[in-house]
Parts: sequence; structure tokens; C-alpha cells
Amino acid sequence: MAEQGHKQNTNREVTAGTFPEISVIVPLLNEEDNISPLYKQITEALFGGHEYEIIFIDDGSTDNSLAELSRLQKDDTKIRIIRFRKNFGQTAALSAGFTHARGKIIVAIDADLQNDPADIPKMIKKLDEGFDVVSGWRKERHDNAVTRLLPSKIANWLISKITGVNLHDYGCTLKVYRREILDEINLYGEMHRFIPALASWSGATIAEMVVNHRPRTAGTTKYGLGRTWKVILDLITVKFLLSFSTKPIQLFGGWGLISFILGNLSGLAVISMKIFKKTDMTGNPLLYLTILFLVISAQFILMGLLAELLVRTYHESQNRPIYSIREILESNGKRQS
Ligand code: UDP
Ligand code: MG
Repeated sequence: MAEQGHKQNTNREVTAGTFPEISVIVPLLNEEDNISPLYKQITEALFGGHEYEIIFIDDGSTDNSLAELSRLQKDDTKIRIIRFRKNFGQTAALSAGFTHARGKIIVAIDADLQNDPADIPKMIKKLDEGFDVVSGWRKERHDNAVTRLLPSKIANWLISKITGVNLHDYGCTLKVYRREILDEINLYGEMHRFIPALASWSGATIAEMVVNHRPRTAGTTKYGLGRTWKVILDLITVKFLLSFSTKPIQLFGGWGLISFILGNLSGLAVISMKIFKKTDMTGNPLLYLTILFLVISAQFILMGLLAELLVRTYHESQNRPIYSIREILESNGKRQS
């Protein structure tokens, strides 16, 4: 059964029965006034349908968020609270939620009421059409135009171009995932926005769906323009992981070879200028270019070889395959003609 394949992080009280079908993951930092209405809205959206659990991750809040969560938990066993020792960031909070989720379908949503829980059932329906990830698109977004909307437009365009996964809104936390997809992904830095791109590596099918977006009415946003450069750096990492994580020598070695060829061409030029034009070799700037290219080429190739060792250590130490299997179809012993 798929249920037995779930990760081992199980809570005994609830595991006595069956696992909930859906896990709603809510990372939060200082959202005391939003928690209670959010809980109500999630309950309204999901109650009476599939079995579900709501996992709140308190990412080091310093206000009354935890007290608020504990109060709600007294009356509802569907609520689970993960409390961080300090603020580790939204990506870490989501990652903790994913690890401890027991559902087959995992929903991530912001705690600030900007995402609308009423969208969740529609998104799950879309997932059931045969997708692995359904990503929210805040088509009419209510955030600051200069510090948020413009950088986000550029970032979404860039991420789509570079990763080849075309989404309008990578930054929307409201997404629905099949758990198998998340099991294969490890998150670092600020990478939660790149989950669809990382999932595409293992062949996940991804759908986008327009969702409601509301202005923040309580609490403050935790981000500003400063996030932009982090996103760009993470994008470089993701591109590298997607294209070369199992074959780094092909990237570094490629640059190394190009550099080696350029160095040799430049060296040949220095020698032929000496022979035919009597140009002094040590006074020829091309000599420095030759040295530069040859040193860089050795660096690149060595870097590629080191990266190859690291990749092997990474995969072999954890028995992580370099592929992802969707399913294995057996013939049940009957011979196919
Ligand atoms: N959040 C978090 N840890 C952090 C920063 C943010 O858990 O270090 C939560 C925050 O409480 C909210 C969600 O992540 O539920 C999105 O944050 P925010 O609304 O500030 O981002 P924005 O919507 O402005 O992009
Ligand atoms: Mg928000």
C-alpha cells in the first residue's frame, strides 16, 4: 500500500487509524491575527470532503501565534503544530511540513490570508485530472507594484526561460503536490519557489491554475526587494542541478576544453608573430592571454573532476538513483505475445 510507503514521521494518536488523504502545510512567522480566520477558512473549504490534517509550522514567531495555535488545537485533532527553535525561513518551514505530512496530497498555503483556502478543492480536482503539481497563479495580485510586482514579473519570466518550466507565478505559495514528487526533492536556501522546476527534473507533470489573491489585512510582509538577488543566485543553482547535477564534467570540462583551445590558439599566435614579425614574445600581451586560458582550462577540468567525485558520493552514499521511475508495469507472470 502506498500508505505504508510514507515517511516514518508519524504521530501515534492519529496513525492508529488511517492517514489523512490531504495535508495542508502552513508556514508562519508572527501571524497572530491571521491564524484563527485562516483556520476557519481552511476548515470551511475542506470539511466534509477527504480526510485532512493541517500542519502549522511556527517559524520562530515572537508574538502570540503559538498561543493562538495551541488554543485552536485544543478543539481540533486535525491540527498539528511544528515549532521551530528559531526563525529558519519559509523554505525551511515548508520543508519541515513536507517531511512530517502524512497525506498523499500536500497543499502549501501562506498563513497571511493572501491565498484563499477556497481554491484548495479546485486545485485538488485539477491534480486528480492526472497532474503531479498544481501551482497557483495570482493573476490579480494585491502587493506593492514597485517592490514586489515588477521584480516578480521579471523573475517569473527569467525562471521560465532558464528552467524551461513555463509558469506565470513561481512565487505563489499556494500549490498542491503529490507526495511522491516532494519525497524526491531536498530544499535549501530560498528554494521553495523552485519546487516545480526541480520536480520537472523527475518528469513531474505541472499545471497552473488562476487563484484568488487578497491584500494583507493583518501583520506585515516579511520580504522586500532584498529577496531579488537571492532568487537569482538560487536560480543559478537550480539551472545547474537540472542540467548537470549528474554529469558536472560535461559542463566544467566543456568550458575547460574551450579555454584550452583558446589558450593554444593564442599561444600559436604568439609564436608565429615571433617567427614572422619578430614581435618580442615577452612584450606580447597575447602571451598573458595564453597563460590565463591554459590556467583556467586546468582549473575548470579539475573542478569538473572534483564535482564528479562529489556527485558519486552524493548518490552512492544515499543509494539515490540518477533517474526517477513513475511506475513499473509487471505482466503478472503471463507471457505477452
Ligand atoms: N514566513 C515564514 N518564515 C519567514 C518568512 C515568512 O514562515 O521567515 C511565512 C509568513 O508568515 C507567511 C508566508 O511565509 O505565512 C509568506 O510570507 P509573506 O506574506 O511575508 O510574503 P509575501 O506574501 O509578502 O511574499
Ligand atoms: Mg503574503
